Amino acid sequence: MVLAGEKLFRAKQIHEWLWKKGVGSFDEMNNIGKALQEKLKETFSFQRARIEVEARSSDQTVKFGFRLHDDKMIEGVLIPSGQRVTACVSTQVGCAMHCAFCATGQMGFIRNLHFSEIFDQFILMNQKAQEYYGNPISNIVYMGMGEPLLNYSNVMKSIDLLTSPEGQGLSPQRITLSTAGIIEGIRKLADADFKPGLAVSLHSADPKKRIHLMPVTEHNPLDKLQEVLKYYHQKTGERVTFEYLLLNGINDSQRDAEVLANYCRAFPVKINLIEFNATDSPFQQSEPENVRRFIQFLESRNMVVNLRRSRGKDIAAACGQLVKKQA
Ligand code: SAH
Repeated sequence: MVLAGEKLFRAKQIHEWLWKKGVGSFDEMNNIGKALQEKLKETFSFQRARIEVEARSSDQTVKFGFRLHDDKMIEGVLIPSGQRVTACVSTQVGCAMHCAFCATGQMGFIRNLHFSEIFDQFILMNQKAQEYYGNPISNIVYMGMGEPLLNYSNVMKSIDLLTSPEGQGLSPQRITLSTAGIIEGIRKLADADFKPGLAVSLHSADPKKRIHLMPVTEHNPLDKLQEVLKYYHQKTGERVTFEYLLLNGINDSQRDAEVLANYCRAFPVKINLIEFNATDSPFQQSEPENVRRFIQFLESRNMVVNLRRSRGKDIAAACGQLVKKQA
């Protein structure tokens, strides 16, 4: 900032209106004077995302379709659980990863979101969280549409605005970023000054299987991924969190569990097993008996394992179901 002739404290005031109070117009900035409001309107405009569709699940999960200034659509989800409300935000319109099991992957990549578009999802869903559940958003997961580490600077800028005292002041520990395993991005994150939590979507520790499920493996091979995660662990002291989607007959055998356990010997891990949510793909959920055996095997290797119950399935708001026909 700022426009020529304005005092520096005005910049601070405007910053506060934008990123602390999260207003959507210059008229709401009621301490900067009418003249400056008008001057700002001449030069700048708000290009705020707006909620266009809303779908509410029987489990209280709500999916939002946001219309962006260029008519593109993205989705975000609110997931209440006791006092906690988790918001899942998108980082790109579409996604370039083409994971075989994911609906967003089928759309292809359209564009990166600007940091303000990521931030807007938070502001708009935070209002809804208070309205619907009586609690503000407590946790944010960067697990909606897109690959956050391929939109690194906008993602980090949005996290800065969400966590800094001049912004929303949330604790970085309440923010988790999920990646398909972009090695360079993980290295950059390891070296960054402030960090969200990191989760890596692994889904298979067998190179041949993983390349089939997640083509990103071709340029981000499992051995190199392991190396960079070792580095990440050394830098942060944190456990490495892996997400592992259980697909019937594909990656849920005893042998798959063994390959996974061996891969994880490089660092302390936490494994979040995810139920598959139906998409337009031939995959199916694992049989309960196989899920049980898979967990038992990992636990016998002293690994920390959680089975994630899926939320919002009836409204296609669950992981991997976020997709939107673009206008
Ligand atoms: N690109 C990032 C974040 C978005 S995907 C990533 O890959 O991590 C968020 C999570 O949902 C990932 O773990 C992804 O693998 C998982 N997912 C994708 N499709 C799914 C499906 N059909 N059922 C369950 N989880 C799915």
